[in-house]
Amino acid sequence: MASGNLTIDLDALVANWRALDALNAGETGACVKADGYGLDAGRVARALADAGVRNFFVALAEEGVTLRRALGDGPAINVFSGHMEGDAPLIAEAGLTPMLNSAEQAARHRAALPDHPYGVQLDSGMNRLGMEPAEWAALRTGLEAGPLTLVMSHLACADDPGHPQNAAQLVSFTEMTEGVTAPRSLAATGGILLGADYHFDLARPGIGLYGGLPFAAAQPVVRLSLPVIQVRDLERGESVGYGASHIARHKARIATVSGGYADGLIRAMGGIGALYAADMACPLAGRVSMDLLTVDVTHLDAVPDHLDILCPAQGVDDLAEAAGTIGYEILTSLGPRYARHYAGGAS
Ligand SMILES: *Cc1c(COP(=O)(O)O)cnc(C)c1O
Repeated sequence: MASGNLTIDLDALVANWRALDALNAGETGACVKADGYGLDAGRVARALADAGVRNFFVALAEEGVTLRRALGDGPAINVFSGHMEGDAPLIAEAGLTPMLNSAEQAARHRAALPDHPYGVQLDSGMNRLGMEPAEWAALRTGLEAGPLTLVMSHLACADDPGHPQNAAQLVSFTEMTEGVTAPRSLAATGGILLGADYHFDLARPGIGLYGGLPFAAAQPVVRLSLPVIQVRDLERGESVGYGASHIARHKARIATVSGGYADGLIRAMGGIGALYAADMACPLAGRVSMDLLTVDVTHLDAVPDHLDILCPAQGVDDLAEAAGTIGYEILTSLGPRYARHYAGGAS
């Protein structure tokens, strides 16, 4: 079989949640949008629910419906995009909690589902989602009179503890939520690490659970091992791959490995990234193809039948750096062709 092996360690995921929960002064939820950062929202969320998570967050109502099927009744499923046109039956049937982002969404929700719980997302300075201060001031009394379960906002720069926008957004959120009795939420992974001032009642970490920065102390959750299909020897001057971009400067041995940009192994890492034989780096030679990578294994005594691209020696953020991106994009790009193995987890 030429499919790569993607192993997802649910025990490491739960350990990361516990470690963030230990740092967080309030309740710790979990963000499982984009299919649990590409790792299967249902499996991820069941493992976290078993560990005690009571509040989950997704981006879209459709994701919430899938998650409700996986989780059953009980945990809250909060939807960042709020209440969009056509969402009412999904919100009602799956028992989702939309985070209302605007007066328009508030009116839509009130008209369609007047008694159904909702949260409110405030814009404290990121200018992406949420009600502006004036909009919130005008609607606040009415919204607080209904089944309001959460008031939240999102930090734009929490991965950079020294960024002045963190403190500015904290001031803005604190002012906008003065006297609010519903629970308040500001922190994702980065916000938890900024300290207790940022924690409020509920945090909603995502990336740290999955082993990514800014949670530097996270345990790795994913391992990706790719089969070697073929090995060949090159003479000096021979080229490898599309565009003949890599030319052997001396005799070399090249392994052709199954996995490419169609599997989320981002093309920009060509000529920069590496695969690993245990802890020995084997540099990519030439461009990343749709289904294949070519790797310089000249220095290995023996070529193993698999080479690792995500492993203890190279985590998601290391690979992200080689590809000029962030760990979030590496995880959410992991493609559907891998054989997925789940290790650990109670269910
Ligand atoms: C994605 C997201 C989160 C989780 O952020 P991480 O950086 O992955 O911890 C939390 N809140 C909102 C609004 C988000 O969009």
